[in-house]
Amino acid sequence: MVEVVIVGSIGLDNIETPFGKVIDTLGGSAIYSSIASSFFAETGVVGVIGTDFPEQRLKEMQRKGIDIKGIETVEGKTFRWSGKYEFDLNTAKTLKTELNVMENFQPKIPEEYKKAEYVFLGNIDPELQLKVLEQIKKPKLVVSDTMNYWIETKRQKVLEVVKAVDIALMNDAEARELFRTNNLVKAAKEILKLDSDYAIIKKGEHGSVMFSDNNHFSLPGYPLENIKDPTGAGDSFAGALIGFLAKTKEVTEPNIRKAMVHGSIVASLEAEGMGVTNMDFINQFKIKERFKEFEEIVKF
Ligand code: AMP
Repeated sequence: MVEVVIVGSIGLDNIETPFGKVIDTLGGSAIYSSIASSFFAETGVVGVIGTDFPEQRLKEMQRKGIDIKGIETVEGKTFRWSGKYEFDLNTAKTLKTELNVMENFQPKIPEEYKKAEYVFLGNIDPELQLKVLEQIKKPKLVVSDTMNYWIETKRQKVLEVVKAVDIALMNDAEARELFRTNNLVKAAKEILKLDSDYAIIKKGEHGSVMFSDNNHFSLPGYPLENIKDPTGAGDSFAGALIGFLAKTKEVTEPNIRKAMVHGSIVASLEAEGMGVTNMDFINQFKIKERFKEFEEIVKF
């Protein structure tokens, strides 16, 4: 039974970092986040691909343990993104975004996904995020993410999504841009004012912070020595976070802290390879090993 439903982009990426280059690799927010979530819970994806999407890529997703019943194929070209990183791996420079079939997508949730209790509205058009949410019966937890592209083109809709979810997740640059402030504490307070229970702000290699009305938690980034490509790290963080919460079935502030640690672990393992490649080598043993290291890092 699908426990976590994830909506997001599914596409083909061209990525260049100082450490390598990949062309037409499996990408998109739904890909990274659903693989990350599937390490902890049964995960189904809602998204769209074009008729040019290679069949073997769908098989690759199933092999990675993702339920793909919610992926629709429509006539046309698949979403494509090209990005480049300089030595500051915290900021991706988008070279090209081609929405293609994603532009007119009307998400239809498979019947068996409608009872899922955990929903992740991954980075995609905020109108699609809202349409997916409308179709899920009674979720216990809804988490959202977004990106500068949507803040710049559909800011009001992005704000509506933040208002509709329990945990609003975004990275630091997005939080500053969305709330028009340079101060992350102020941005987090704006998220809470919009009615989200928790604001989680990802800060790339510098970790992440969580704010609720009564609490504040800061988690350092895992000290990665062999980072190759941060593409998808934010999505992997989110996927592992919701997957861990679905597995442990406890949406409490202390457990959200643990979920953030698991998010950081999976994101750091993912960033050690180009594109999604490293996700094939993530397993429970590696997750546990890095969890112990994290315990040491934050102990004082
Ligand atoms: P991240 O590095 O976690 O922010 O996410 C990287 C992924 O986001 C890539 O695999 C891209 O395909 C995807 N992506 C890039 N731009 C967009 C966009 N405007 N909407 C949805 N997904 C996108």
